[in-house]
Amino acid sequence: MQPAATLAASLPGRLRRLGRIVVDGVLPPRCLNCGATVGEPDTLCSRCWAATNFFAPPWCAVCGLPFETPMGPEAVCADCARDRASWDRARAVLRYDKNSRRLVLALKHGDHTHLAGALGRWMNRAGGEVLDGADLVMPVPLHWTRLFARRYNQAALLAHAIRAAGGPPVAADWLVRRRRTPSQGRLSAAGRARNVRAAFALRRGRSVRGKRVVLIDDVLTTGATVEECARVLRRNGAAWVGVLTLARAVRAGG
Ligand SMILES: [Zn+2]
Ligand SMILES: [Zn+2]
Repeated sequence: MQPAATLAASLPGRLRRLGRIVVDGVLPPRCLNCGATVGEPDTLCSRCWAATNFFAPPWCAVCGLPFETPMGPEAVCADCARDRASWDRARAVLRYDKNSRRLVLALKHGDHTHLAGALGRWMNRAGGEVLDGADLVMPVPLHWTRLFARRYNQAALLAHAIRAAGGPPVAADWLVRRRRTPSQGRLSAAGRARNVRAAFALRRGRSVRGKRVVLIDDVLTTGATVEECARVLRRNGAAWVGVLTLARAVRAGG
């Protein structure tokens, strides 16, 4: 490329960056959730902080479901005792509720991709029990038609943000979505499991044999999607599979 062309091509980006520096220097930082003025960038205001349910121990050793009372570090919940998933351990940062849904939807549909950096840092901090010793983080893929419509995959944004916060390397595009599945939103647990069956595959030429892999997604609801992804990784020889999500739905009373 000619020097003049190079300069022209890089100008808008530089101007944008410069503009952001100027704006950041003038405007006070905003709460990630509600937009109220806060003292530091990339944080929640005290009101949103108090309303946000962060998971904390004691919890199920396998899936991270919180317990009301301490049960010992190896205790597992009734679901995990009855039926073991194809993954080894799952953790989430936030309970999926009215408050966290707003953050999740902003990241997914609202083009608030700047949120990913802060949310990825939260995930990296809270996800030590799955990230420590992991070889790779692997975002749950979107089908290309959905990726095309939405322009980005929120799970991939989170995976890269986790890496930027000091987490394991990102295996972006290693998992592929072979067919487009209808939105999971209105389906029952059994319907969701049927919906995603055989929907994923490992990209040809990629190997997870002997590797410790952590699947990354924004929300875990019934777990049907990560279960299907974990099966693919297992079939391809992964040594250990973890799951780390930003939010997780917990049934009332659970
Ligand atoms: Zn707020
Ligand atoms: Zn459990």
